[in-house]
Amino acid sequence: MSQEYQVYIDGTYVPKSEAKISVFDHGLLYGDGVFEGIRSYGGAVFRLDQHLTRLFASAKSIDLQIPLSYEALREAILETLRINQLRDAYVRVLVTRGIGTLGLTPASCPVPTVVIIADYLKPLFEGVNVRAIVASTRRNAATALNPMIKSLNYLNNVLARLEAIHAEVDEAIMLNQNGTVAEGTGDNIFIVKDGVVMTPPPTAGILLGVTRDAVIALAREEGIPVVEKDFTAHEVYNADEAFLTGTAAEIVPLVEVDRKQIGDGDVGPITTVLINQFKTIRTTGTPIYPA
Ligand code: PMP
Repeated sequence: MSQEYQVYIDGTYVPKSEAKISVFDHGLLYGDGVFEGIRSYGGAVFRLDQHLTRLFASAKSIDLQIPLSYEALREAILETLRINQLRDAYVRVLVTRGIGTLGLTPASCPVPTVVIIADYLKPLFEGVNVRAIVASTRRNAATALNPMIKSLNYLNNVLARLEAIHAEVDEAIMLNQNGTVAEGTGDNIFIVKDGVVMTPPPTAGILLGVTRDAVIALAREEGIPVVEKDFTAHEVYNADEAFLTGTAAEIVPLVEVDRKQIGDGDVGPITTVLINQFKTIRTTGTPIYPA
């Protein structure tokens, strides 16, 4: 039997089968907490500092004091990968409000819980030309629960994903409260029209994806124009190409939305360039095992 993965919980490592937290943790009771999903490629963690910065920003926004310094948490992530002898991995970092009473007040939770899970995760939608619907569930209003906060409260996204499951497609595209396109349920969206790459701006009510950021930089390096602008479902249907980006999904072609074929229904030329370029940079992150 292969060795069981070790999960970091509050500074100690426990085997995966014994990795449990209290039912009184407000992460479970109220989705009160924040998280990150991070990948490593060939022994290097992709954009580790960008993920950590986003985690600390999410925590700050919900008044959650992460009980480790930035450096200590960074090292704990790398150590969790080393203990599990992983090179190509997916890391899930969670910081919950911690154990408290049944009431929702965070004041009853003195110590946040920190969990780091490092495991293998195959790319979501691997080898799939993604088909999607536009969900009737709108993305949370930024004035209610800002999508920039990567919180443990993913029910908004889960409801949209359920719509995709019911429609027997791979993913759901979520509109914001204004009715323009926001993002997928766990990924950002890009379209290509007349050689220009477009993605919704931060004000569209989206998570500012690390992969989104990397793809924007890659496109610009390739001399491909990129604009952050609002667009509607109509513009997605009539795009030449479309693709989704995310840590779990990486870069995947989006070839059909609401039963309408996008472009020629296959992975487009600009999408192909970006997928190939992404493969060349993804191993350039923070080394897990310094030489
Ligand atoms: N939007 C949402 C709602 C997400 O959950 C994710 C995954 N973290 C993304 C976008 C993509 O972000 P990233 O590229 O940082 O994984």
